[in-house]
Amino acid sequence: MRISYSALEAFKKCPQKYKFKELDKIKEPPSLSAVFGAAVHGALQYFHSQKTLPSSKELMDYFSINWLERKEKLKERNLPDSEFNFMENEAKNILLDYHNDNSEETPHILSLESKFEASLKSSDDFHILTGKIDRIDRQEDGSFEIVDYKTSKKMPSQSDIDDDLQLSLYHLGFSEKWPEFKTRPIKLSLYFLRHREKISTQKNEIHINATKEKLIKSIKEIQNSKFHPVASPLCDFCGYKNICPMWKHKIAINNQQSAVSQKEIKQTIAEFFELKEKISQNEERLDELKAAINAFCDNEGVEQVFGDFGSIMRQLQQRYEYEPHKIKEILEPLGKWDEIMAVDSAKLKELQKSLPPHIRNAIKDSKIPSSEFKKLIYKPRNTIFKTSVVTNTEMLDKKMAMLSNNTNKIKPLINEY
Ligand code: SF4
Repeated sequence: MRISYSALEAFKKCPQKYKFKELDKIKEPPSLSAVFGAAVHGALQYFHSQKTLPSSKELMDYFSINWLERKEKLKERNLPDSEFNFMENEAKNILLDYHNDNSEETPHILSLESKFEASLKSSDDFHILTGKIDRIDRQEDGSFEIVDYKTSKKMPSQSDIDDDLQLSLYHLGFSEKWPEFKTRPIKLSLYFLRHREKISTQKNEIHINATKEKLIKSIKEIQNSKFHPVASPLCDFCGYKNICPMWKHKIAINNQQSAVSQKEIKQTIAEFFELKEKISQNEERLDELKAAINAFCDNEGVEQVFGDFGSIMRQLQQRYEYEPHKIKEILEPLGKWDEIMAVDSAKLKELQKSLPPHIRNAIKDSKIPSSEFKKLIYKPRNTIFKTSVVTNTEMLDKKMAMLSNNTNKIKPLINEY
């Protein structure tokens, strides 16, 4: 498989978006933030590619012309002028700061916007990962520095940078493109333009091999994916929102399409929320009743109470657990111990809090999907982001039946508590 690093990143954020772009080949209309990033990168490339370093005015002039051209591409988005002006000022400030910080010392540049390919061999497949490195500097001592510009507002920690997959891939791509330099020290830097700060790291053989494994694993995920859309705040900036299954219905409602089927589903949704509300009220009430029954039993010294609809008994429940070392002693000689070994996810989650970041990342990377299903996540209107999950429709049906039959109201108390 041949895939670019940016496509791999896009898949991680939303498999459906990856599919629209890479498989269905639907062109995504550019977003303001993409245009902003491209304009800043373009101006920095201009800055470093001139024979003599441009003055700040020349840099601003270049950017302004470039910005106007790129702005044209956003026409169909109908964005207000205030948004453009804000982003334009942001970009100009970034570039002026960059000029200020970098006009004294000029790096010896090996390459700008350099395309690379990194080959990845797995036991059963071969892949090529492609990408582009913003800048590669040759240092006086013969070493190299790979620089990637970032326009993001958030700055990661040093340990995040040490684990950064993109930088490891750059190292890999650099070594393949310039094999004659691959034994030289290579510094990998992310330059956070808004913060005027560069964070650097270096990679060794272990990192590079781990990177290859991670990339192969990510490619396998793509090959096995069903490309489900993953809704997130990024949807607001996604050029495929109009055709995305996650948002298509909302857009159809707004456009008042197929009024009949819309009416039906609206009624179904209304009923769903009504029932959920009743269930939650009933669960609260059941908890109160349970507490009252327990209190009565404690006060009266009884373990069973009787009412018109039946009785409720308190029964001592005991839970057991096996002593792991004893079970191991019994099963290991039979070669059966591994068959019952399973990682306890809850305990692992707790344990991770006390582990260093690189171990946490290694644990995260070892995750593989064990099953796949669609769950309903519902968001009542006028809440900021309250979510809840309906995973068990049988349970929902059971609760519904309970609500519709008053005489059975007390039954779940006996069955469930
Ligand atoms: S709108 Fe959201 S869910 Fe749909 S493709 Fe874009 S990012 Fe994915």
